[in-house]
Amino acid sequence: MSAQIINGKKTAEELEAVLKSDIAELPSAPGLAIIQVGDDEASTIYVRNKLKAAAAIGINAVLHKFSEDVSQKEIADLIITLNNNKNINGMIVQLPLPAHLNEEELLDLIAPKKDVDGFHPLNIGRLQNGSSKALLAATPKGILYLLEKEKIDLTGKNALIIGCSKIVGRPAGMLLLQHGCTVTFAHIHTQNLPQLVKTADIIIAACGCPQMVKAEWIKEGAVLIDVGINRINGKLCGDIEAAAAEKASFFTPVPGGVGPMTVAMLLQNTYEAYLKQNHK
Ligand code: NAD
Repeated sequence: MSAQIINGKKTAEELEAVLKSDIAELPSAPGLAIIQVGDDEASTIYVRNKLKAAAAIGINAVLHKFSEDVSQKEIADLIITLNNNKNINGMIVQLPLPAHLNEEELLDLIAPKKDVDGFHPLNIGRLQNGSSKALLAATPKGILYLLEKEKIDLTGKNALIIGCSKIVGRPAGMLLLQHGCTVTFAHIHTQNLPQLVKTADIIIAACGCPQMVKAEWIKEGAVLIDVGINRINGKLCGDIEAAAAEKASFFTPVPGGVGPMTVAMLLQNTYEAYLKQNHK
């Protein structure tokens, strides 16, 4: 079987071009605030990419960068200020935060209508309830966008989610459940992963374990969505063994699959938040 590559990079570029022309029609630029604490290398790269992508389509993105030893109150005060700033439509706190900061307390402070990462409990609850009011977490939203764009029928399919983080696995599973999949969540304590993979029609691998999901486990014709971003000898790779693509019907490459969609969806959330806040 010849598998079809799901080209997230191209789809993200197309989406960003549409967003750019839509944003050019607005009376003012949507505003996005990014809060970063410390100099974590991966976070710095992600933040740089988000700032660059936002600027390229006309979103006014502002970085608030703090040193590693910033206090909880300083960040909390900034979030409250940004909540009240009419020029800021979206806000994200780049994770992970240093251990002395209470992540949950800070994320809870973000006004749900500005929560463009979709991490606030109200948005998570809305996702769980299938409410169209939810701002959805960018990576799961991007995955669903790709599956729908490829017209992959989800109804009644066995979907296996490997990795249950709050930002990827859990919300991705919830979205697939709402689209008619029978969803199984696997995690670090799951004991029969190869067997679960063998019966899965759709696999979303988001565990951060380089090439852990083996080609020999894959059911012929499965759809493979690889969220993992890992390095082996400096080279990027996903959580699924590259050879698995040969057994798949569709697969996302790493890099160039899910990653670019995450940024595009963050920008789309910011645009949608602007529209809602300005009653458009
Ligand atoms: P995380 O580290 O918060 O959680 C990992 C999850 O995987 C946990 O539920 C854990 O139980 C599970 N897990 C760990 N080892 C496992 C194993 N051996 N078998 C089964 N399950 C296992 O994860 P995260 O923040 O969601 O990130 C996961 C991966 O996705 C990372 O590689 C990260 O870099 C990548 N990521 C990519 C994007 C993107 O845009 N492409 C976005 C977010 C995260």
